[in-house]
Amino acid sequence: MLYKYKLHTPVEDFIPITAQVKGAIAESNVKDGICVVYCPHTTAGITINENADPDVVKDLLLAYKKAFPDLPEFKHCEGNSSAHAKASAIGSSVSVIIHEGNPLLGMWQGIFFCEFDGPRERAFYVNISGND
Ligand code: ZN
Repeated sequence: MLYKYKLHTPVEDFIPITAQVKGAIAESNVKDGICVVYCPHTTAGITINENADPDVVKDLLLAYKKAFPDLPEFKHCEGNSSAHAKASAIGSSVSVIIHEGNPLLGMWQGIFFCEFDGPRERAFYVNISGND
């Protein structure tokens, strides 16, 4: 089953989407299976990381900024090559095991939509397969 969600994003942030993923799993009635969370954009991505201390997301954004600075040598005419690099590094999707009707996440883990080139109207997909 495929579910689509829309987001309006800020300039740069990790937006928590665990609640939407849990909602999709509940609606699907799948109890044991797999769930793929996918982002169809080239300057945004999906990741799993800590959702307990909000400073972790701030530190990750700083780490990506330092790792992928805006370089004067970049040739891409849109001027957002550093956002493309960050999106490629983080990846377009995550797979999560569904166990007993819930995503099998660690105690401190959450699923995030990662915006690197906002503000924009964005979407992500949740595809669920498995058994009732
Ligand atoms: Zn671009």
